[in-house]
Amino acid sequence: MRCLVISDIHANLAALQAVMDDVAARATAYDIVWCLGDVVGYGAEPNECIDLLRALPHICLAGNHDWAVTGKLDLHAFHEQAAYVVEWTQANLTPENMSYLKARPELLPHEDYLLVHASPREPIWEYITDINVAEDNFDYMSSPFCLVGHTHVPVIFVKDGRTNNVHVSMPSANVPVVLKRDSRYIINPGSVGQPRDGDPRAAYAILDITTSTWTPYRVEYAIADTQKKMRSFHFPPRLVERLNYGR
Ligand code: ZN
Repeated sequence: MRCLVISDIHANLAALQAVMDDVAARATAYDIVWCLGDVVGYGAEPNECIDLLRALPHICLAGNHDWAVTGKLDLHAFHEQAAYVVEWTQANLTPENMSYLKARPELLPHEDYLLVHASPREPIWEYITDINVAEDNFDYMSSPFCLVGHTHVPVIFVKDGRTNNVHVSMPSANVPVVLKRDSRYIINPGSVGQPRDGDPRAAYAILDITTSTWTPYRVEYAIADTQKKMRSFHFPPRLVERLNYGR
């Protein structure tokens, strides 16, 4: 089985569409989309992104922005600029899409894989930004592999099965990584709609469960189109500008 793994779309339709077009152009057949949460927030096309996702065979986790929009998280936990867009999204989301967001699960085990937005220890809120945090989180996994989003940075943490040491690597686009059966992994595909690793291109990955192969990809999209829509709703300039830099 092959999974298209995406995360943190953040209501950026041009980026999501570019990912889908790129997958189609590669003739990379996939069976299902695994979306690791934060479909909304920051961007100006939440309904369009949810509609596109819902038209695909998919599963989707709950992210912190999704929870904020549905009222499950206190807005005070958010930066002022992010909170502005959360409130805008609350006012503009269709009732059907609000119900969809409310129904997203926090954790989803699938055979050898655990799917979660943030971390196994704190599924909605913890940022796995370094080896120490990753190391702690391996203790909260009963499966060998965990897929996370939330930091918007593509990364692979490996706990070596023989030495128990944890290593980190930043995977290169288009280079397949074969997951070793005697080790454990926490893997982040990066962000579709708001990359923060200094590369403004949309990030996604293809996971082949049969061969245990993870292949990350990056794709350019029409950033200016996304920014135009954000500006038309007077979104905070910092949120609009950062798309240029992937920071
Ligand atoms: Zn996010």
